[in-house]
Amino acid sequence: MNLLSTLVDKGLRRELPTREEALAVLATSDDELLDVVAAAGRVRRHWFGRRVKLNYLVNLKSGLCPEDCSYCSQRLGSKAGILKYTWLKPDEASEAAAAGLAGGAKRVCLVASGRGSTDRDVDRVSETIKAIKEQNEGVEVCACLGLLSDGQAERLREAGADAYNHNLNTSESTYADITTTHTYADRVDTVQKAHAAGLSACSGLIAGMGESDEDLVDVVYSLRELDPDSVPVNFLIPFEGTPLAKEWHLTPQRCLRILAMVRFVCPDVEVRIAGGREVHLRSMQPLALNLANSIFLGDYLTSEGQAGKADLEMIADAGFEVEGAGEVTLPEHRATAGGGCGSHESAGCGSHESAGCGSHKSGGCGSHAGGGVCGAAATAAPAAEPRTDLVAVRRRGAGTDLAPNA
Ligand code: SF4
Repeated sequence: MNLLSTLVDKGLRRELPTREEALAVLATSDDELLDVVAAAGRVRRHWFGRRVKLNYLVNLKSGLCPEDCSYCSQRLGSKAGILKYTWLKPDEASEAAAAGLAGGAKRVCLVASGRGSTDRDVDRVSETIKAIKEQNEGVEVCACLGLLSDGQAERLREAGADAYNHNLNTSESTYADITTTHTYADRVDTVQKAHAAGLSACSGLIAGMGESDEDLVDVVYSLRELDPDSVPVNFLIPFEGTPLAKEWHLTPQRCLRILAMVRFVCPDVEVRIAGGREVHLRSMQPLALNLANSIFLGDYLTSEGQAGKADLEMIADAGFEVEGAGEVTLPEHRATAGGGCGSHESAGCGSHESAGCGSHKSGGCGSHAGGGVCGAAATAAPAAEPRTDLVAVRRRGAGTDLAPNA
């Protein structure tokens, strides 16, 4: 059997590919690209049909972060001209969420910049979760508040949260190259805390930081081991004013190969195209829907995405359908595997009957790392053409008086 039929076969049986097979996917040529997409597309359709899940970000607190994640526009010392504001009130957050839900999203991802939350912050976010749940029946809510302290995950779950996002970002061996104010182990610990509390864990990566193929495969295998229900794949947005502003490594072809590799290594998991979708995939976005079964509708935390209407048209034109509120996102074995999230009545993502999400999402928090700093990039991707023309700092929605994009 050749590489692709072997990977399809393993993907349909949820058998872990070898690292060599995963590396081989990243090393395929542009001439083989459509074969790679077709093969990974079979695995995607086997577990998720032609459904595309829409998630909506609400940035509860923007900028002003004491951490130094080198990829992040909200980091300490960032000169990126992003919005800076402190906590949204529960009704403001609920209003922002309602726009996304009206646009077709079924999950709201509540994100706050910062190392982690105080217990008072958790109380504040719990109020917001309750407000959103009361006003939007069956909605899924994910929280993404940085590192978790003991008991915080349980309290978020009691407040009605279905999921918790905390990305690993990159490989353990290069993590200290992108952040010095917390560790890779801190991140793993937070994902495990979310799991243990019965929340659906969501944890992903950032590509495009100049990392090697080996680093990318490392972080995806670490994610498979952590077994989140959803894996956001961010493509670095090199924000002016951050240490990684010059790191342009991604081409649409490279992004498609990375998404295919993630699909083969995590076949039955919600793979989400997160930040950088528009900037790096550009006209290849519809093709990427053959690999990922989830996207963010509207804007990212600190940068603007394409119009929500354009996303809906793209999904329909590509022959996919928006996943309905009453449809279960995850395959049966995963949907029924987890602990309860207390919102069994809402069909949602299906794990624990309604949990799962993704964040420090994109466009500037938690999950954005930078390239070039990852040291010995054995097979680092060559530099790509900088597309700063496509990077738009968010100037609407949460924290502003302008209507959100949804
Ligand atoms: S990724 Fe999160 S923790 Fe890191 S600098 Fe950005 S907001 Fe702070």
